[in-house]
Amino acid sequence: TYIVNDACIACKYTDCVEVCPVDCFYEGENMLVIHPDECIDCGVCEPECPADAIRPDTEPEAEKWVEFNRKYSELW
Ligand code: SF4
Repeated sequence: TYIVNDACIACKYTDCVEVCPVDCFYEGENMLVIHPDECIDCGVCEPECPADAIRPDTEPEAEKWVEFNRKYSELW
């Protein structure tokens, strides 16, 4: 699973949304998040992000964003 971190705030370039084959991005007012159960881990969105905000959830720095993405992908 991939997560979106705070580098997305105020960017929302949304090229990632267009390439995602399973449409698992959810859009809030300030940023996007990825639904962890819908993401198929294909990785095609990662290079599309100009802010480098999309990271694999296996990276240590991504850990604090895991719950955030889960929570808001269900709310938005
Ligand atoms: Fe969508 Fe693939 Fe990115 Fe997951 S890794 S959010 S399935 S494009």
